[in-house]
Amino acid sequence: METVIIGNGIIALTTAFRLAKRASARDLITIIGPRARAGSATRAAGAMLNSFAEIEKGSLDHEIDMFRFELSHLAGRMWPRFENEMIEAGASCLPLGCRKCSGFGGGGCVDTGTYVVNNTAADDLDDENYDAIVDALEQFDEPFRHVSPRDIPNYLPEQKARATRALYIENEGWFNPKLILEKLDNLLKRFPQVRFVDAEAQRLLKTGKVLTGVVLSNGETLVGDTYLLATGATVTDLIEKSDLGIDIQRIFYGVGVSLEIRSRDFPHTKVIRTPNRGLACGIYSVPFFRDPDEPQDHILIGATNFISPTPYNYGRLTSVETLMKAAMEQINVNFYKADLVGINVGWRPTSQDGYPLIGRTSISNLVVCTGTKRDGFHLSPLLSEILANIIHGDKTDERLEWFHPERKPLRILSREAAIEKSIKHMMSAAYQHGFTPSPGGLTRQIIESHKANLERLHDDVGAHDWGIPPDMLDMYRYGHAKTDLRQNK
Ligand SMILES: Cc1cc2nc3c(=O)[nH]c(=O)nc-3n(C[C@H](O)[C@H](O)[C@H](O)COP(=O)(O)OP(=O)(O)OC[C@H]3O[C@@H](n4cnc5c(N)ncnc54)[C@H](O)[C@@H]3O)c2cc1C
Repeated sequence: METVIIGNGIIALTTAFRLAKRASARDLITIIGPRARAGSATRAAGAMLNSFAEIEKGSLDHEIDMFRFELSHLAGRMWPRFENEMIEAGASCLPLGCRKCSGFGGGGCVDTGTYVVNNTAADDLDDENYDAIVDALEQFDEPFRHVSPRDIPNYLPEQKARATRALYIENEGWFNPKLILEKLDNLLKRFPQVRFVDAEAQRLLKTGKVLTGVVLSNGETLVGDTYLLATGATVTDLIEKSDLGIDIQRIFYGVGVSLEIRSRDFPHTKVIRTPNRGLACGIYSVPFFRDPDEPQDHILIGATNFISPTPYNYGRLTSVETLMKAAMEQINVNFYKADLVGINVGWRPTSQDGYPLIGRTSISNLVVCTGTKRDGFHLSPLLSEILANIIHGDKTDERLEWFHPERKPLRILSREAAIEKSIKHMMSAAYQHGFTPSPGGLTRQIIESHKANLERLHDDVGAHDWGIPPDMLDMYRYGHAKTDLRQNK
């Protein structure tokens, strides 16, 4: 069998690895993607392996959300073994630093331990989400402990932004995603069945009901038996250029910035993060391992998010400023003398309904995986296994049908719940950006004004009995999100 994988991010490469391990001598796996990986979400990711720390109030109420959490939980359990499989497969072809690594806890690019802090820098949305994290940790019997914020190593926020509560989740860790990509690139080259093509897919060709090839930026056309489309946020653009006659909900560019800093006097050994807030994942700092022979004093600060219908190549000054300010105020005041090493910009593949797209399409030899938004890195050991099973025609969990690529956008939030959630996130974002209301009724007036605007927007787009996901408001407001779903399955 000849499998053509379009894309070279974490989803594409981990799936190629799964397929390569199952391949016979006659199989061929081709990975198409530009080596520079512009806009790759994987390269910009904090690469935290968070399931519980990502929970928000109400985020496990619906059975589909609970299934998504189940996938996340399972993926977290799979990482240590998956990491060891990669080290074993890569052997002498691994980057130098990785060769000395023994996986989790081995002092390399991966480790565990996440502090979640409940601070006063934003508003009480943080408190609600923090409570939801604690409830879930207890309900699922996940190992964690309440800690005093004062005992968190290298946690020295400004007085006004200090945490009042904190907890430590033992099993939730992080990676250096750039090293993982390098590791996967290297180890895949060891498989004779795998080849890399340093080019962009420009168009997919279809004859009858099957895909028959991929036209590349270098003028070549590549042909295979089965195709996996895993180009992250660019999936919609590629499908639109290809005229395939299938209706896949739009994938937007969730433009995110993260900063790599060097903090010589205050290096980190664990993740420190807030709960999700203000339409994003809060502020976090992640140890950024580079090489066993280099000082362990680099840290990744993340992350911002804004949704765009088109690619956006640069980090906005406001994103950089927000992260630098939040890191100094909310994580460690001594970061004022840290060095800014680099600014990463990546596009979180964000679907219109906010849920991933996974599965075989009505074009029988086309499989799609995108829409992983904020946790595709974490999910990759599991998604790669699922995708390899789909490609091989093996049975998968029936509930994955919920994430079928050609589904109608899921409408899980009611109109009332969506409006309430949007207002909370908008207010939280305002407080994070320095909003200080005067005494009196100003906050109530602003909330009422947001509510009126949101009611009007819901009316305008016909959202009478369903709610717009909070991060999609502008996409609906400016006509980028589709409201007529009649053509979808
Ligand atoms: C700032 C930030 C922080 C994040 N933090 C986390 C985190 O802590 N934990 C977590 O689990 N997730 C995190 N994420 C999300 C995670 O990065 C994504 O869910 C995941 O990386 C998506 O992987 P992917 O392979 O689908 O896409 P990508 O990594 O974007 O890879 C797609 C690849 O396809 C290539 N490509 C694009 N178009 C074409 C084409 N036409 N032809 C060929 N190749 C093409 C691109 O060059 C790119 O390399 C974060 C994302 C961002 C931006």
